Amino acid sequence: MAPLPQDSLKHIVSLAKRRGFIYPGSEIYGGFANTYSFGPYGAELKKNIKDLWWKTFVHRRRDMVGLDGPILLHPKVWQASGHLDNFNDAMIDCKACKARFRCDHLIEAALNQSADAMSLQQMTETVRNNKVKCPKCGAQDFTDARHFNLMFSTHMSKTGQEGDTAYLRPETAQAIFIDFKNIIDTMRVKIPFGVAQIGKAFRNEITPGNFIFRVVEFDQMEIEYFIRANTWEKTFEDWLASMHAWCKLIGLKTDRVHEKEHPQELLSHYSRRTVDLVYDFPFGTSELYGLAYRTDFDLSRHAEFSGQLLTYTDPETREKFTPHVIEPTFGVERTILALLCDAYEEEQLEGGEMRTVLHFSPLIAPVKVAVFPLMKKEPLADKARMVFDLLHERWNCEYDESGAIGKRYRRQDELGTPYCITIDFDTLENDTVTLRDRDSMKQERILISKLIEELNAKINN
Ligand code: ATP
Repeated sequence: MAPLPQDSLKHIVSLAKRRGFIYPGSEIYGGFANTYSFGPYGAELKKNIKDLWWKTFVHRRRDMVGLDGPILLHPKVWQASGHLDNFNDAMIDCKACKARFRCDHLIEAALNQSADAMSLQQMTETVRNNKVKCPKCGAQDFTDARHFNLMFSTHMSKTGQEGDTAYLRPETAQAIFIDFKNIIDTMRVKIPFGVAQIGKAFRNEITPGNFIFRVVEFDQMEIEYFIRANTWEKTFEDWLASMHAWCKLIGLKTDRVHEKEHPQELLSHYSRRTVDLVYDFPFGTSELYGLAYRTDFDLSRHAEFSGQLLTYTDPETREKFTPHVIEPTFGVERTILALLCDAYEEEQLEGGEMRTVLHFSPLIAPVKVAVFPLMKKEPLADKARMVFDLLHERWNCEYDESGAIGKRYRRQDELGTPYCITIDFDTLENDTVTLRDRDSMKQERILISKLIEELNAKINN
């Protein structure tokens, strides 16, 4: 598959703003770096992705339950999980212009060399010895590299003292581990089983960027799947297959999604195996989702730090053990970015005209059907409103009566609306409407009484 052109991101950012998908955060105050607001169509898209994910991984499986844990967890959680000590990036500052960079990114960009396995000292020396220039001002005068914890801290202002520091969760996973006991005590779950959660995570990223690829506040959809240790390899493969199936379900082009195995020496402190699903973004192939074998690290650490027993008792053999965990994790913002990149097309039509279209799958498209009267006059408009009322009980639909019909189609193409219905003079005679397909632009005439059945088959497949 041809790579996405590098400058396509620029067009996608502009369409996302123009068409109400994604706005820069706090824009009237001059913006607030690396925060974004999801506009009316972006909010629909996000909700459709989360709902479909929940349906796929919770409702349609018998081995999964859901959870909605808090963003603020007891500070000890982050000691136990290792985030206070290990959730760091190495940063380096330019002494001349004060710009701050992630040291590994700086080295990679300047020297085309991976810094993943380097110590702080090695990074500092690599930057100095190779006379790396500041990408902002060109100076060759950097501070030493030093660690920077990515967790946002805040205060639970009981006394306003040091000990009151709390952290905004940098991943949703820990809320699942600390409720493990509650879940096995209150639900009839049997190993193997999983707990799914969708929620906000926060990371004080040093160099965010590439639109919504790396932001400081984002939604994660995560699963902790509890197993017996000796089944981890098979379960890992099963989840990898389920993650690929998800990419296909939401309509991503499968040849743009690849696997990237993390080398053993670079695994996170909790992981024994990690495979990322990476996507060919216009700015390069980068992580979309992750799958990690977290062993029994988290449950064991929370048992140790809380003094509680976090084991599972086999109902048949009464054997007690600490389950191991496979963790598939999906970022919502990266899903949206990949979908926008994948679906975006500037298409040359016969006659030379260009149209911009988002080829979203009907399953996730923000608007499923748009209804237009051919002209803004009665009784066409009245009939069109009647058709809209018939459909909008089931699907998110739009009614639009202003402007030339061609312009109305183009607007819906840019929103990724898969179907448009037009009410014309024939409708008044025989109760048929035209149903236009976004991708082929073909129109078929169809009886109003058959619309729901026809759209049901097209949209909900
Ligand atoms: P990266 O290496 O790109 O920083 P990561 O390996 O730290 O990502 P994980 O800790 O595995 O990411 O997080 C799980 C998922 O959450 C990622 O696969 C990604 O989809 C999403 N994610 C992580 N960080 C961000 C971010 N800053 N902005 C948007 N999404 C993110």
